[in-house]
Amino acid sequence: MDYKDIFSEHGPLARAIPGYAYRPEQAAMAKAVGAALALGEPLIVEAGTGTGKTFAYLVPALLSGRSVIISTGTRTLQDQLFHRDVPMLARAIGMPVKIALLKGRSNYLCRHHLEQLPQQRALFGTAKGSSRHLAKILRWSATTKSGDLAELADIPENSPVWPLVTSTRENCLGQECPQISSCHVYDARRAAQAAQIVVVNHHLLLADLALKDEGFGDLLPGVEAVILDEAHQVPDIAAQFFGLTWSSRQVQLVARDAAVELLKAQAGGSSINTLLQDLEARIAALYRDVPPKSGRIDWERLPDSFFDALTDLQNCLQEVGHHLEALGSGPGTAMCARRARQLAANLATLRGLEEHAGLRWADGGTLGLQLHFTPFEIAERLRAYVEARPCAWIFTSATLALGDDFTHFASRIGLCDARSFRIDSPFDYRDQARVYLPLNMPEPQDPGYTQCFIDACAPLLAASGGRAFLLFTSYRGLNEGLQALTKRFATPPFPVLVQGQAPRDALLKQFRALGNAVLLGTGSFWEGVDVKGDALCIVAIDKLPFASPDDPLLKARLEGIRRRGGNPFFDYQVPQAVLALKQGVGRLIRDADDFGVIVIGDPRLRTKGYGRIFLDSLPPSPVITDPAQGAQFLISRLAGLRQN
Ligand code: SF4
Repeated sequence: MDYKDIFSEHGPLARAIPGYAYRPEQAAMAKAVGAALALGEPLIVEAGTGTGKTFAYLVPALLSGRSVIISTGTRTLQDQLFHRDVPMLARAIGMPVKIALLKGRSNYLCRHHLEQLPQQRALFGTAKGSSRHLAKILRWSATTKSGDLAELADIPENSPVWPLVTSTRENCLGQECPQISSCHVYDARRAAQAAQIVVVNHHLLLADLALKDEGFGDLLPGVEAVILDEAHQVPDIAAQFFGLTWSSRQVQLVARDAAVELLKAQAGGSSINTLLQDLEARIAALYRDVPPKSGRIDWERLPDSFFDALTDLQNCLQEVGHHLEALGSGPGTAMCARRARQLAANLATLRGLEEHAGLRWADGGTLGLQLHFTPFEIAERLRAYVEARPCAWIFTSATLALGDDFTHFASRIGLCDARSFRIDSPFDYRDQARVYLPLNMPEPQDPGYTQCFIDACAPLLAASGGRAFLLFTSYRGLNEGLQALTKRFATPPFPVLVQGQAPRDALLKQFRALGNAVLLGTGSFWEGVDVKGDALCIVAIDKLPFASPDDPLLKARLEGIRRRGGNPFFDYQVPQAVLALKQGVGRLIRDADDFGVIVIGDPRLRTKGYGRIFLDSLPPSPVITDPAQGAQFLISRLAGLRQN
């Protein structure tokens, strides 16, 4: 059976999926993916919203009979593929398949750490409110087969109990673990190796490539294809794994684990206990210069006293390592000894790194101090990893190209010679949407900018009675936007929701249920958000989404481009902002029946030379500058809905 038959109006998908519609774009993408799988070649595909790209790569993956890793950007998509899409498609096309879901190790119960709970509690007590959660985990541990913590959905993600019952790469005993025969992490790995299709996420895949953190380095051998969905996230995630991170939290964890292991083995003594306490004191000395919540600090701005304190801590870690090893009281303490020495070695490596290779920086976050090294370049390394595993590497997302040009994305992943193509969205943007570019907007840095932006949106909000996402490029903009909205509408004729009032998914649920709300958001609302129907008729974007120039990661990348003789603004900042804008704009039309107005307040679209690049990347909808036209469009479409 060929792709045309499978995706046709009378094919197996049409029979299996209620409301199925044939989309030639989807069949075309499936054909291209199928060819890349057969040839074992890399491929980059941008598939516009509504193409149905998930099925367009799953069907050829199933038909190929090859062993395929599918990697997603989010856990939500990972779960959806494993629990719903792959089994349903396999049934529909009659291709039974062995499928496995593999997550990072922090998603699985660690039986070794669970067994150590009594010692943990004896030494450190139990955080307030955790007893109930721990009791629940203990009951569940007796019956769970997968050990997947997602089965405990009612324990919050930020509960302090999770580190007590999960493992990290550092504190896992591996082959020496007494629980290895019932270990959920190893079971999940084994199941993955025996499956034809394994669903992972980018963090796990890249950790595996870089042999870091949760990675075992055993996912890829033997695999015949890797399909990366939401692939626009890959370069940034790769930069995290190809760099180096050291944290005070790792030191605290090793001190804690060592104390637990010593208590369990009835080993120890005053000198090792004093050394473990010393570790805490040395960390406290670091906080004098980089207090918690102090944010990101450039390496060059760290004072000499900080580096002196770092040297003391490094020495103390070495001593702890030697003492623990000398005690020789079992695999648990031996592992802690290795971890302490490794943390000292990582510090030494980080301090000795060449400045021309990347950027070093400190981060005083809520969980303590982190020291990072971010390489200027990841493309060469990523390319080397891909070339070392010659199979079909397929990268897909709704936002990879600038117009028809894939150079920016392809060069970031080091695959400039990979075949690439774009599949247009099947939606009729000329009919379904308008792009409203308000006239007479001040420059974005003008203090009155946000008020003008809200005033420009107001006639549309009044016409639609709400039903809008107001997307901001910063928290500051969001707060100003809320004030401006309150000023413009003393009593808003629609409910107002603000990012941060509740978790993102809860807020979205509320937005959909209300049907006429206005939601003010930043960051996480620009992508991965799907609201179909007339609850969302306006997506208004305050400014072109250039990343903050203070971000050390961005600085590292710009510096890398500068050193190569490139132009950081045009080679990186503009393309990245174009892709981010495409993501934001893409929130509006999610279905063939959707309609609405995209508002972009930023006057640089017209006043700057680079504005054309942004304009060319927008959907082919009519551009309007008169708010009355936008208001009229919304009024007539909403009236049409009511009549039907
Ligand atoms: S092998 Fe590692 S993850 Fe598995 S139970 Fe032992 S310590 Fe935990």
